[in-house]
Formats: sequence, structure tokens, C-alpha cells
Amino acid sequence: MKSRVVSREISDNRFNPRFLKFIELFVPIDTHEKLFPKECRTCGRTYGSLSEYLLRTVAKGHTLDNAEEVMGEPFTMTYRHCACGNTLVLTFTAETYPVLGELWSMLGEEARSAGKPLNEAVMDFVDQWERYMLAHAKRHREV
Ligand SMILES: [Zn+2]
Repeated sequence: MKSRVVSREISDNRFNPRFLKFIELFVPIDTHEKLFPKECRTCGRTYGSLSEYLLRTVAKGHTLDNAEEVMGEPFTMTYRHCACGNTLVLTFTAETYPVLGELWSMLGEEARSAGKPLNEAVMDFVDQWERYMLAHAKRHREV
């Protein structure tokens, strides 16, 4: 029984190497001044960093939206729900996350090579991103 739990933990710690590179590039902008602190206008909760935002909000439905075509420049939005239920939108641009275009090319390639819709590849990415941030935050707390 115990070994089954352990093996699941190990498989949960696996990351798609294609994703990992881009996930790691979010670490330096964890407290980017253009993004944080972010305050929920409904309940007043404040999110001081990207990891806090990812860990204390819940992703529902589609979570990363590429609006580059509409905006005419790299522009990605994340939609996550505050504990109060309000939707908190976070926007990434070339200024906050310089490899935004490459991120979407990678996600497109991942979807094509895995033979799945883009939104599924995006969900996988966000899933692993959350998991990475969780592990990162845990390590940080232990120090
Ligand atoms: Zn709220």
C-alpha cells in the first residue's frame, strides 16, 4: 500500500522537458512589479507573487488564453478563481515574459506531436506549472 503511494508521488514529480524550460522562466518574474501585488477587488485578498497566485487560486476551464492575434503583440491572459469566487485575470506580455511567442509555438508543437487539441496541451502545461510552483514554494518554506 505504502509503495503505491510512493510511486504515484514519483510519477507526479515528472515534468515534460519541453514544458519545464518555460516553467522555469516564470520563476524570475515571481514578484514582477507589473504583475504583483494583485488585489481581488471583490474580497480584498492580496496575492504577492506568481507562486502565491497559482497556489491560492483555482484554475477553472481554460486557464491560458493567447490573445496575440487580437492585440497585435504577444499577450496572454490567465483566468483563475479567488477563494471568494471572483475571477482574477493576470496578463503576460513580452515585457513581463519575453518568450511568450516561443511558449505558444512550443504548446502548438506539443499538441500536434501528441495528437491532441491545443487546449489539452495548455491544460497539461498549467497542471505541471502549478505542481512545479507548489514544489518550489515547499522547498522555500523548508529553508
Ligand atoms: Zn476574492
